[in-house]
Amino acid sequence: MCLRPAPASTGIVFKRIDVPRGDQKIKARFDAVTDTQLGTTITNEAGVSVSTIEHLMAALVGCEIDNVLVELDGPEVPVMDGSAAPFVFLIECAGVQDLQAPRRVIRILEDITVRDGDRTVTLSPADHFSLEMDIAYDSAVVEKQSYRFDFSPSAFKIELCRARTFGFLHEVEGLRQVGRALGGSLENSIVIDGDEILNDGGLRYDDECVRHKVLDAIGDLALAGAPIVGHFKGDRSGHMMNNLLLRALFENTHAWTYEGVVEPEVAAPPVPVLQEAVMTA
Ligand SMILES: [Zn+2]
Repeated sequence: MCLRPAPASTGIVFKRIDVPRGDQKIKARFDAVTDTQLGTTITNEAGVSVSTIEHLMAALVGCEIDNVLVELDGPEVPVMDGSAAPFVFLIECAGVQDLQAPRRVIRILEDITVRDGDRTVTLSPADHFSLEMDIAYDSAVVEKQSYRFDFSPSAFKIELCRARTFGFLHEVEGLRQVGRALGGSLENSIVIDGDEILNDGGLRYDDECVRHKVLDAIGDLALAGAPIVGHFKGDRSGHMMNNLLLRALFENTHAWTYEGVVEPEVAAPPVPVLQEAVMTA
């Protein structure tokens, strides 16, 4: 994977350099999401997909990057250690430049809620981006955890970006039997067996699991296409619920508005000159 600088108004665009030209680009947008089972997958009109985009998307939000071209030579973003930390580190090494264009944000004006059984997700009006998450699992390691996060790039880097994805051993074994999660290991996730953590080093934060769920929500909400000014609340939510929430939001045009929109007559600003961040897993 290689992150390349892009001009203002590009947004976050993935490019599969291993498929024929013309079919390579996939816009990171909520309406391009085609699978949310093991992660978030987006697909373009030619049927070309990129999967497991959520931790990279979260890292881009955490580093306040609105415009970037993400080149990949395969169908999946490198999993790295199952967190967003390696992406943040490499983006910081490459450097970030402000573009000469105002930022466009999405302000939430009304509550939007999606429910599915005992799972709920809500976006509400607020004066900045904040998130709240509750999770509950049948294991002493996770049980009930709650976490509230007020977004800022520095808080993201300290509180969230190192939180790894997690899974239960019986689920990983079940997925392997059907040919999924073949790369899942102690190197790239927290693996829980009953009431025990199998990773030698234990947890990076006491409540690493719920923090990771907040990280996932940040990555999934980035598919709105612009930073959100509002409060997210998730109760046992996941990639599917997060995506349904964005679809519900954009169906309700009175529930949100763009702020800081640039007039189209303004000449395109120069493309920033930056080093590229190359990542290999
Ligand atoms: Zn995740």
